[in-house]
Amino acid sequence: MKASPNHRKALLLLYAVILTLVVGVCLFFSTTAIGSFLGEHFLLTRETATITAQKDPLLILVNRKHPLPEDYAPPLTEVYGVQVHEAVRSPLTELFAAAKRDGVALTVHSAYRSRAEQQAELDEKIGVYREKGMFPFFARKKAEQEVQRPGESEHQTGLALDLGGDADTDTEKAQQWLFDHAAEYGFILRYPAGKDKITGITYEPWHYRFVGIGAARAITNAGITLEEFTEETDR
Ligand SMILES: [Zn+2]
Repeated sequence: MKASPNHRKALLLLYAVILTLVVGVCLFFSTTAIGSFLGEHFLLTRETATITAQKDPLLILVNRKHPLPEDYAPPLTEVYGVQVHEAVRSPLTELFAAAKRDGVALTVHSAYRSRAEQQAELDEKIGVYREKGMFPFFARKKAEQEVQRPGESEHQTGLALDLGGDADTDTEKAQQWLFDHAAEYGFILRYPAGKDKITGITYEPWHYRFVGIGAARAITNAGITLEEFTEETDR
């Protein structure tokens, strides 16, 4: 039996629909595969970051998988000559006062950084490796292992601080004191030793993050990271 023109039209339409579906499905899987391969997950994770932040803005999780929205702007205030999230100001002064009572003088080495400042820091690091003769691609990869990309550094929240001693207090003494007492004031050691598989960042004994006293105590006592804590509380 010979197909009528109408039949042929219907068949062509069917083929077109099937082809569109196949191409669509292929594209969907290829982009998600590439996306996860590169560790991006932009759409999904941005949503996750927002949900966590809505629950308790102090628990906002920022890392490579959870970038901040481009328009993110925390409420800032100034203390000890640096800019911090306004929730950090009074706990930080209490922390510094308590340390002083124990004979430990603390210094803030780094606090809030804007997106542009984070970009500048990364570019500077890339420049260092380029000068050493590395190809742009490899220079960038190497730099990104040491400096977070814009949107992926929690210094952009104003809730993170790099802390140490001053001229009278050596770094080790300051770090030990913080290690013992920071949680009492709502701060956690954000990148502990042996947790780099979870945080994506190797041990940083100077980097503290304000999360509030309740969460800081819970996280520190359990010996877990903010990643693990927010995963638990999100459930
Ligand atoms: Zn830091």
